[in-house]
Amino acid sequence: MYYQPVIGLEVHVELKTKSKMFCTCSAIYFGQKPNTQTCPVCLGLPGALPVPNKQAIEWCMLIGMSLHCEIPFLAKFDRKNYFYPDLAKGYQISQYDEPFCQSGYMVLSSGKRIGIRRAHMEEDTGKLLHETVDGKKVSLIDFNRSGVPLVEIVTEPHFTNAVEVKEYLQKLQQIVRYLAVANADMEKGEMRLEPNISLRKMGETELPGYKVEVKNINSFSFVEKAITFEIARQAKLLDTDTLPVQETRGWDEDQKLTVSQRNKEEAADYRYFPEPDIPPFVWEKTYIEQVRKQLPELPEAKQKRFNATYSLPGYNAEILTRERTVADYFEEAVKIGKIHAIEAKKIANWMINKKIDIETVLPATLIKEIKSVEVVEELPEDTLKKIINNVIDSHGKVVTDYRNGKENALMFLVGQVMKEVKGKAKAETVREALINLLK
Ligand code: ADP
Ligand code: MG
Ligand code: ZN
Repeated sequence: MYYQPVIGLEVHVELKTKSKMFCTCSAIYFGQKPNTQTCPVCLGLPGALPVPNKQAIEWCMLIGMSLHCEIPFLAKFDRKNYFYPDLAKGYQISQYDEPFCQSGYMVLSSGKRIGIRRAHMEEDTGKLLHETVDGKKVSLIDFNRSGVPLVEIVTEPHFTNAVEVKEYLQKLQQIVRYLAVANADMEKGEMRLEPNISLRKMGETELPGYKVEVKNINSFSFVEKAITFEIARQAKLLDTDTLPVQETRGWDEDQKLTVSQRNKEEAADYRYFPEPDIPPFVWEKTYIEQVRKQLPELPEAKQKRFNATYSLPGYNAEILTRERTVADYFEEAVKIGKIHAIEAKKIANWMINKKIDIETVLPATLIKEIKSVEVVEELPEDTLKKIINNVIDSHGKVVTDYRNGKENALMFLVGQVMKEVKGKAKAETVREALINLLK
């Protein structure tokens, strides 16, 4: 039996705002002493009131806009209720049926369109640390992360394999970095991935009656492995007419397999209801357009423009636009290079082939370096050949000496040619050409 995988993704991205989502505590928690960046709001103390972070909401909108989402004129926060020790309030402030962004898409390099269901705003939880203190196993809670702004981006189940998933994730990471709204460093947990996987028989078009969610993966390659593993596991079950259980699983990198964590709860289990402490938002059109104006040129557009403007060879435009800082560096160097008649193509080649470290080499320094090497602007081959032949013709005796085995004679001839070309040829090239012509 052949099956087609059906895959949808939920991705959490931590925003790099200065302060948290609903209080003024610092949102930069990495490496900080536990529980030093907390207040009554993010500790969930009774009576503390949340105040939404405007910057975070605008950044959420920018992410949505970059994914071609609509920005509805009405939006609100909701409470998602569940119990877990890292969730101080007993609920997470999230968005349920009226998110900031919805109905977008991303186009993969194959031309396939992946639907984006929504991009909404929520808050991160605290962090549980399982440690041994005085010989006893204990769980500790650090609330520094509690209330850090998170954007969740949910796709339609449009992926059919891990390769498509990986491309989507890489592009998404690139976009949020271009927007400069998140570092999306996976190792720090700033971008967390949750693939939902099910299988249907080839040719079927309806969604399977179950799905398996693999939670909280923090690497692109683990996502690939988890998807590949799940496809094989579920296919085996379906082969024996067993419907896989709808559940949440986790990726175990040591054993290279997914393990069941819990039966998946339904939305109804969360008892979502409108957050009573934050009134709904009604946006004015002019405000949304004002946010849209903050959109920078995104990777795809930049790549197209680089191709068109600088006529770069091959994949060079793609390589130079992978990171915004590299693209900016290139354009800065092109500007300086223009003054010295150095082509953009040459600059691109240098940056890529010589792996120029943009952190330590200034664009102006790079141009100086290119200039110092490129001054050997070489004569066309046939012009050089003519000059060499003239030198040979007018130094008959020296040529005879060379032919009789006098090595010094060759050096003399090279010197004569170098005088004639006025620096527009390399001595090594001239030497080789002479040897060839005197054969
Ligand atoms: P839940 O309410 O359980 O979170 P959603 O319907 O909101 O489920 O979908 C969550 C994610 O699962 C989305 O990315 C969606 O595309 C994906 N998804 C939905 N149905 C399936 C399916 N049958 N197989 C794989 N992924 C699915
Ligand atoms: Mg979900
Ligand atoms: Zn706080």
